Amino acid sequence: MENILLSNEFGLNPVIMSCPRCGRPTNEIALLGKAYDYKCSCGVHIYERKVGNCPSCNASNNQWKRMSHKEVEVGRKKIMATHLCDDCKKEITTFKKTVSEGGVYWKCEDCPSNGVIKKNEFTEMVREKMGLNVPGPKGYPPIGVAFTKKDCPSCGKEKDVDNI
Ligand SMILES: [Zn+2]
Ligand SMILES: [Zn+2]
Ligand SMILES: [Zn+2]
Repeated sequence: MENILLSNEFGLNPVIMSCPRCGRPTNEIALLGKAYDYKCSCGVHIYERKVGNCPSCNASNNQWKRMSHKEVEVGRKKIMATHLCDDCKKEITTFKKTVSEGGVYWKCEDCPSNGVIKKNEFTEMVREKMGLNVPGPKGYPPIGVAFTKKDCPSCGKEKDVDNI
C-alpha cells in the first residue's frame, strides 16, 4: 500500500467507495489524505492526489484535468472501488449464464444502464448478423449491443426497440 499524504485540513480523508458498476456503496474504504478534484475527458470526476487510469473509461492520467488547487474533502463524494459489490458479482454470473444460453448483453451509451436480453427473436437476429449464432462447448460466445437514448429501456423516451 502506498503512503498516505495527510491533508492538513481533512486528515486521512476517508471515503466509502462505490461499486464501479451500480454506484452503490461497497465495504471498501479508501483513505485519500490530500486529494484534488480531477475531471476526466469522459466526464467522470476523480478525487485523488496521485493518478492511475480513469475507473470509468480507463483513460490515462494525461486526459484528466485538475479542476482547482483547493483540496477536497471526499467524504460524501463518489469514488469508484476497485471491486464490484457482491450484488453485481452475483448479477454478472447470472448475466454470463443468460448470454451463454443465447442471450445478448446490452448497454446504453447515454446512461449507465446495462443488462442482458434473454434469448429471443431479437438476440437470434443479432447473433446471426454477427456470425455468433453457433454455441461452442461453453455455450454461445459473448456478444453485446449498445443502445442510445433513442432506444434505451431506461433513459429512452420511446420504449420501442422493434426498429433496430
Ligand atoms: Zn454493484
Ligand atoms: Zn474517463
Ligand atoms: Zn439509457
